[in-house]
Amino acid sequence: MNIVDVILDKRYGRELSDEQISFFVKGVTDHSIPDYQISSLLMAIVLNGMTDREMTTLTMEMASSGKQNDLSYIEGIPVDKHSTGGVGDKITPIVLPLCATFGVQSAKLSGRGLGFTGGTVDKFESIAGFDVEISPDRFPELISKTGMCISGQTPDLAPADKVLYALRDVTGTVDSIPLIASSIMSKKIAGGAKAIVLDVTCGSGAFMKTPEQARELANAMIRIGKLAGRETVAVVTNMDQPLGRTCGNVLEMMEVYETMIGKGADDVLEVAVELASHMITLAKKNEGMNHEELKAECLKRIKDGTVLSKYFELLLSQGALFKDTGSPIYREYPFEELRVTATQTGYVSQIKADVIGNAAVRLGAGRVKKDDVIDYGAGICFYRKVGDKVRRGDVICSLCRGQSAELDEETLYDVMEMVQSAYDYSEDEVSKPQAVIDVIT
Ligand code: URA
Repeated sequence: MNIVDVILDKRYGRELSDEQISFFVKGVTDHSIPDYQISSLLMAIVLNGMTDREMTTLTMEMASSGKQNDLSYIEGIPVDKHSTGGVGDKITPIVLPLCATFGVQSAKLSGRGLGFTGGTVDKFESIAGFDVEISPDRFPELISKTGMCISGQTPDLAPADKVLYALRDVTGTVDSIPLIASSIMSKKIAGGAKAIVLDVTCGSGAFMKTPEQARELANAMIRIGKLAGRETVAVVTNMDQPLGRTCGNVLEMMEVYETMIGKGADDVLEVAVELASHMITLAKKNEGMNHEELKAECLKRIKDGTVLSKYFELLLSQGALFKDTGSPIYREYPFEELRVTATQTGYVSQIKADVIGNAAVRLGAGRVKKDDVIDYGAGICFYRKVGDKVRRGDVICSLCRGQSAELDEETLYDVMEMVQSAYDYSEDEVSKPQAVIDVIT
């Protein structure tokens, strides 16, 4: 087979055969196809799309391009969750122990943050002593103890996707439903999931800017899931403003703790409970409850401390350190450096999540390049969110750095201006947006 013929077929809008897709993915994995030909085919896919069969074959080929996790030690159906990314997204640390209280076992693989999207691994790592580099050999032991474990992704999982993703990033080919859908689903399937719950974010802080685009991506992943024999549910969520009251690693883990002592933000609770209920149902651990009953039960368990106990079990099993008072010790403590005030009187109508995410990166909370060192204590606390009434001069949010980190004044004032520009106001009353926009099955 010749890769030029494969490129030409896709260029002229012809459907690729399974053999052609398999040949392509093998060539990507063993580096026998040069980057310029890979990029050329990627661009042809962006322009001419893929059928469901092509997307599914691409997914399965990428999933089997490296090691595939065998989760047979998990009792019941292994369910995984994935978020397409956002700002202030602290849902996994809540959902994992919440599901575990229903007996849903999870071996969760998560990523580090890059660009304005935070990473769950960095968030867990912001707890002193917590080990995020768990070898898969230890997963069964940890799961038998607490029902869950969380670790960084190993490089041998879907290596073809890593090559493709790196090339897409520099060839203007990220933005393609078949490529995004197959990339995400390949990693979930290689990770061993038999059922998948997708949090498809939409808005200024997400890949998909509108609910329509998010639904399109969600439907593509559900169709792949069906053809690949993985039951898949997608929840479209609002990322038109940051989720919850904080963004930044320690700040978000502190918010997770607050959520578990009954002081959670409404949007965080809404998303966590929706996702968890689908995960519990897909794992067939819903104890006869329908979706609404299950959501109510999830909320109850978050508010009454049941989830907090489970969360502490997870933290302890992976080495977290605790104070004598019983709360976790963080690697850094946030220091509130500057309070940002509203520039207008009115109702907050938007908080551009991408601008906020980039502002948090400038404060040190995230990375621009893969090997950048982050300040775990850096981030932003939001005192006013969309729908809140403000008067000019009211504090809308504050900028934090780690106690032992430094921030020069120029950066601080640049970030202040960025954050002020992220807030829009309206003279008319603005209703609080729903965090869950749609559920697609
Ligand atoms: N996340 C992924 O894992 N892959 C994509 O292509 C886009 C987002």
